[in-house]
Amino acid sequence: MFKELTEVAKLIDSIELCSPEVKALIRPEVLTHIEYQNESLPIHAFVIGSTDKSAPTMGLFGGVHGLERVGTHVLLGFLKSFFIQLEWDKGLQESLKHYRIVAIPLINPVGMKYHKRSNGNGVDLMRNSPIEAGKGKFYQIYRGHRISNKLPWYRGSQTLEKEFQAVESFVKREMFPAKISMGLDFHSGFGLKDRLWFPYAKSSDPFLFKDVVERAVNLYETTHPHHIYKIEQQSDSYTTHGDMWDYMFEESRRLHPDNIFIPWTLEMGSWSWLKKNPIQLFSRQGFFNPVVEHRFQRTMRRHYILIEFITRLMQNTTTWTTKS
Ligand SMILES: [Zn+2]
Repeated sequence: MFKELTEVAKLIDSIELCSPEVKALIRPEVLTHIEYQNESLPIHAFVIGSTDKSAPTMGLFGGVHGLERVGTHVLLGFLKSFFIQLEWDKGLQESLKHYRIVAIPLINPVGMKYHKRSNGNGVDLMRNSPIEAGKGKFYQIYRGHRISNKLPWYRGSQTLEKEFQAVESFVKREMFPAKISMGLDFHSGFGLKDRLWFPYAKSSDPFLFKDVVERAVNLYETTHPHHIYKIEQQSDSYTTHGDMWDYMFEESRRLHPDNIFIPWTLEMGSWSWLKKNPIQLFSRQGFFNPVVEHRFQRTMRRHYILIEFITRLMQNTTTWTTKS
């Protein structure tokens, strides 16, 4: 075990102490185990709220890249306080009869335990899908390659890794049947600003649900005018091969063409933590995660506002999914 996996186990234990009404609303499960060096590490998931899978659904994901621990910390922190609030907030209990939250806080336990971006096979799970991006101007290795698993951004062979398959079957089961669903996958490391990306990662073609995204963003920007995110299509920053969420999006179109599935990626800009505390450059932990305590607290707090906002979107879907 390691810190983050212990924290997930503690969170699951805490559900046992909840009242029967709350317990009935939270369903933890183990999706699979990843075998590595004589160990077997679980991937945990949570399904919270309505049992009606067509209800609006928010999906929270973290720890795809093992080095980016802060995303897992934000998710676990959110779930922990959400469970506590559920215990006394009857309005929140009532609202969860109409929407759902699903979560996988730690997708790549081997990577996180062994301080690697990739999984145990050296595969970058965010480059592992069969999606091919358009040709870039230059050969850029970070876009994903099949040269060697000794190099970062390795896509793997043509098969989907076990962690990827676990996320895929969970998302297909718990998100695709929803008429409206939004995913938020937490990453950290690129740039100075916190970027909120909608698809596509593969190309700059306009996203199919761009109008829906624009209306939701407009609600966010008018409700929280001083928000900190740079909101853009991912391809505005860079394009990549094998993106997990582009793949899930295509699958959702194929399997549930009448439903709206919008997977976001939050890329927390860790260079700002480096700028304020350059000594972090010398620590692998520090490059992708805020090290100073107050900066860590601030990181946690500001993203809770976003998660909370998405729960509100899920409770008020007609205002932004339909043209006025
Ligand atoms: Zn990442």
